[in-house]
Amino acid sequence: MKSMPDKQGYYGEYGGRFVPESLINALYELEDAYRRFLKDTAMRSEHARLLRDYAGRPTPVYHARRLSAKLGLELFFKREDLVHTGSHKLNNTLGQILLARSMGKRRVIAETGAGQHGVATATAAALTGMDCRVYMGAEDVARQAQNVHRMKLLGAEVIPVKTGQRTLKDAVSEAMRDWVASVRDTHYLIGSVIGPSPFPRIVRDFQSIIGREARSQMRRITGRDPDTVVACVGGGSNAAGLFSAYLGSKSTTLIGVEAGGRSKAPGDHSASLSRGRPGIFQGSRIYLLQTDEGQILPVHSISAGLDYSGVGPEHGYLKDSGLARYAECSDADALQACLYLTRTEGIIPALESSHALGYVIRNRRSLRGSTVLVNLSGRGDKDMGIIEEALKK
Ligand SMILES: *Cc1c(COP(=O)(O)O)cnc(C)c1O
Repeated sequence: MKSMPDKQGYYGEYGGRFVPESLINALYELEDAYRRFLKDTAMRSEHARLLRDYAGRPTPVYHARRLSAKLGLELFFKREDLVHTGSHKLNNTLGQILLARSMGKRRVIAETGAGQHGVATATAAALTGMDCRVYMGAEDVARQAQNVHRMKLLGAEVIPVKTGQRTLKDAVSEAMRDWVASVRDTHYLIGSVIGPSPFPRIVRDFQSIIGREARSQMRRITGRDPDTVVACVGGGSNAAGLFSAYLGSKSTTLIGVEAGGRSKAPGDHSASLSRGRPGIFQGSRIYLLQTDEGQILPVHSISAGLDYSGVGPEHGYLKDSGLARYAECSDADALQACLYLTRTEGIIPALESSHALGYVIRNRRSLRGSTVLVNLSGRGDKDMGIIEEALKK
């Protein structure tokens, strides 16, 4: 796996860089900055200091004993919900903000769906004194008001995008337009393992700390690797980060769980890897939900963080090569998993993370007696409104 991606940024047939000519140089500049970062001990130790003292790493692995007993398996959670700002997103934004600073940029832009990446970007920008603008679909601005308030309080400018479906994919187009016009002084801080090369690799590397910590913590607690490792998949960054430590291990099965939406509601689309096919979106070749004519299909999920029409190129490769498996979890199963964890262990998980747990609960019979590690990618505070609404129905 060390050779992934190749020099052109491909994971097998996925990835690459499909961007306007005017952005190619910025991508090379980023590649250089990242190469320098890997060799620069001062920058690396600044990064390590921030992850430890600012973000709160290492996050613990927690043995959920009551839930384990109820499900008939040994269930462990990697607690990314305890990272500062409430999800794994900050692992990546702290790394990229240091790269941006080393390239002499004074401004960052981002796009966000549920707002978690927007908050993590605004936080990293506040920490380093950079200007920050976040593009967000007008629909999402309304759905995720609390995160919009947080971003504004942190000093970011939030731009509601009113074109198209008014959701994440339209915000991505606006962010790209901004970057083309501002690339000299601006870094586009991409929040998942998506976008043109070298973003998928950089984001995976910054999230791989989840896997490195978890693997040694699990060995310390149980004396061996887990039988199964499960993570939810939106763009795919928390899964890629956790999986990276277990790739090629014969004793551990890796399972990525996509949002299955309102299973079978007419007109709904979800689960890019299970039901999509390869196409070019947001600068790279990936599995994508699209019509026969190549129109990108909007995704529905109860969790806005999984509402993404594609999934990062590395996951396409892991799926095709059988190194990881991918499954779906419906809105209803995710909601039930969220409530179950809350009542059994006193942990309110993000609805995104609840998809990973929902998969485990649905498949508890085939997992019986085995050791399962689930990535708890974030906490559920941001989802209170959605959960309340769903429970009324
Ligand atoms: C953003 C988000 C996700 C989905 O993004 P990935 O890149 O697939 O990890 C999952 N969980 C939480 C809590 C999130 O905020």
